[in-house]
Amino acid sequence: MLELRPNCECCDKDLPPESLMAMMCSFECTYCAACAENVLSGVCPNCGGELVRRPVRPAGKLINNPASTKRVLKAEGCAPVKAA
Ligand SMILES: [Zn+2]
Ligand SMILES: [Zn+2]
Repeated sequence: MLELRPNCECCDKDLPPESLMAMMCSFECTYCAACAENVLSGVCPNCGGELVRRPVRPAGKLINNPASTKRVLKAEGCAPVKAA
């Protein structure tokens, strides 16, 4: 089951479970759409995997399967990915 992390790992923007602006990789590294697109160019800086939009968990399912509240943040922020 997805963790549904509560924030962007780059800029610490809040990404609630219903957000349509949350992007994630297969390891659940989570970013806001602005960082994913403008800074990371759609590639996870941790694992090199692709970033896709995180599916929204229906509100009714969050009662028994709540989103993670553990914030993950890169202390140094995210460096822009250079275009190849
Ligand atoms: Zn961000
Ligand atoms: Zn990753």
